[in-house]
Amino acid sequence: MSKQYVIIGGGVSAVHAAKAIRDQDQAATILLFTEEYSLPYNRIKLSKDLYSDLGSEKVLIKKQKFYHDNQINVRTNIKIEKIDTDHQTIVTASKEQVTYDKLLICTGATNRKLPVEGVNLSGVYSIRNMQEANDCKAYLQDKKHVVVIGGGVQGLETACSFYKADKMVSMIELDSHLMSRQLDEKTSLLMKKKVEDAGIHLYLNIGINSILGNEQVEAVQLQDGRIIPCDAVVYSIGIIPNTEIVEGTKINTNRGIIVNDYLETSEKHVFAAGDVSEWNGKVEGLWGRAMDQGKIAGINMAGTPTPYEPTIPVTIFNAFDLSLFSIGMVNENQYDKSIACESSNECYTRVFIKNNKMVGVISLEGVAASTPYLSAIKQGVSLEGINLEQCSISDLMKEVKDRLKNC
Ligand SMILES: Cc1cc2nc3c(=O)[nH]c(=O)nc-3n(C[C@H](O)[C@H](O)[C@H](O)COP(=O)(O)OP(=O)(O)OC[C@H]3O[C@@H](n4cnc5c(N)ncnc54)[C@H](O)[C@@H]3O)c2cc1C
Repeated sequence: MSKQYVIIGGGVSAVHAAKAIRDQDQAATILLFTEEYSLPYNRIKLSKDLYSDLGSEKVLIKKQKFYHDNQINVRTNIKIEKIDTDHQTIVTASKEQVTYDKLLICTGATNRKLPVEGVNLSGVYSIRNMQEANDCKAYLQDKKHVVVIGGGVQGLETACSFYKADKMVSMIELDSHLMSRQLDEKTSLLMKKKVEDAGIHLYLNIGINSILGNEQVEAVQLQDGRIIPCDAVVYSIGIIPNTEIVEGTKINTNRGIIVNDYLETSEKHVFAAGDVSEWNGKVEGLWGRAMDQGKIAGINMAGTPTPYEPTIPVTIFNAFDLSLFSIGMVNENQYDKSIACESSNECYTRVFIKNNKMVGVISLEGVAASTPYLSAIKQGVSLEGINLEQCSISDLMKEVKDRLKNC
């Protein structure tokens, strides 16, 4: 008898899991439940292209035809409220029971709520889904000044979208640097300059005290007492995995749903992937990782056991007249050596080396230049025999490309 695979959640991990299951098992029934109205879409666009037509097919991860061709039954606008692992069933909000042979939980995450007074005023948004993005745009239609809280990739891209939509933008970041997880001091300072040159008022190294207003937002008060008048606040300050679905089950959780190397939870036949899962003590919260985890979970649910191995994190950033990439480990405290090359302020590349291997790179060379760096990091090309003390980055990459050919 054919098996029934059930996936809860409609994000990137769910889509890639469904395809992996279909590739392994042609006869299976695959059911994918999402509480959202839309087919699974590219969530990243909600910050990058906030003011594009988010209802367009281009925003979808896969068009309707893909689900039809692969016989993946996507049921939108259905929230799953309960999992019963003893009877291998899930229950929808309308109390429909659905049985599973194998279950995958891909419920993603919710944006962490800003822990300050005034966060519930109207005009305060944190964009995680299409509905929130559309609501925020509608609210701002006849308004001008937005305060963006959080200077990570998502916050910066959101700020850039508002800037391009001709809004007046102020930005607040608790850290002393923008995008501190992906950039070094040099590139972060350049980013700061670009953001300020665009006319954005930047407040670094400071948090907020409260959001002020009666019913609607009127201002933000910083921790030092300064007040920034504004019409709306949009924040992105981290995520909380959506684990409430497993409350009352025996599935183990910590910050996320704990999974082993095969992305299995502590309960038989139940897997988890993407932002909701915690693998090796970490909740990844990254698009590429969610995609890979979905695929591996799908393979493990329906095919040969395959361990999950995390891919190298890649951040591509194109905003505020800056095109940069940051790949792999770029933490100032974790490398043995770094080589930087700059012919001008805006031509900068820095590679990070550990144990004679390239482990990370930050570069303003433009996305197209990222491929050899990524290959060298992925494949762990040895830099033995290269005089790293005197080598320029172009010499280094010439040699690395030769070595890659022999890999
Ligand atoms: C605006 C924005 C910008 C981002 N930019 C980047 C970036 O530049 N780079 C990067 O690496 N990452 C980025 N991310 C993070 C990235 O989008 C996530 O890591 C990725 O989407 C996680 O995929 P997922 O499949 O685990 O979950 P999600 O995409 O969160 O999808 C989970 C889905 O499950 C649904 N769901 C939840 N509970 C239930 C339930 N009980 N029943 C039915 N459905 C349910 C949710 O509504 C949602 O549709 C960004 C995120 C946002 C919000």
